Amino acid sequence: MTVAAIHLHRDDLPAAVRFADTVAIDTETMGLKPERDRLCLLQLSAGDGVCHLVQFSNPAGSPEETARAAPNLRALLNDPAVTKLFHFGRFDIAMLSRALGVTCRPVYCTKIASRLARTYTDRHGLKDLCRELLGIELAKEQQSSDWGAEALSEDQQRYAAGDVLYLHALKAKLDAMLAREGRVDLARACFEFLPHRALLDLAGWPDEDIFAH
Ligand code: MN
Repeated sequence: MTVAAIHLHRDDLPAAVRFADTVAIDTETMGLKPERDRLCLLQLSAGDGVCHLVQFSNPAGSPEETARAAPNLRALLNDPAVTKLFHFGRFDIAMLSRALGVTCRPVYCTKIASRLARTYTDRHGLKDLCRELLGIELAKEQQSSDWGAEALSEDQQRYAAGDVLYLHALKAKLDAMLAREGRVDLARACFEFLPHRALLDLAGWPDEDIFAH
């Protein structure tokens, strides 16, 4: 699949952009702590080679302002008929909860699917999955660039798009492996719990395994 188009939007998704059943989502932020680091960019794709980027200006708004921000995007994230497809959704779900006040549901995470299906390896990064399952080499150079910049470079936009463009194809491969290994139900249960796992991160249990003895 070639990259057909990257569309850059400001602060919300245009109302005309719609997604049916499954939308791939990733976020770029100022850092890895949802309590500290702001949301800079949200990437979306229907798995058709088209990527929509939503760039956020520094919000620093009141909770009331946050609750009114990005109404089209929030409607999509809240839509129970649309599965939000992530790679390591735990982080993105926590970030979106903080930034937009939404808890994404239902969700699917290619990293969790990979951990459940690909027990022959400990390599579950997006780059590893794209290489092994799709034969695609993802560039990772822009990973730690300044996502808060006023204008994002073409390299940044292309890198950001790469993080959502292949998730549908990966999901198809991983679903087949999960079925083969008899772990579809277990995966589904993990996806149902995932938003709660993200909320536990925000509520003060980021590292603790509450199921441990
Ligand atoms: Mn990313």
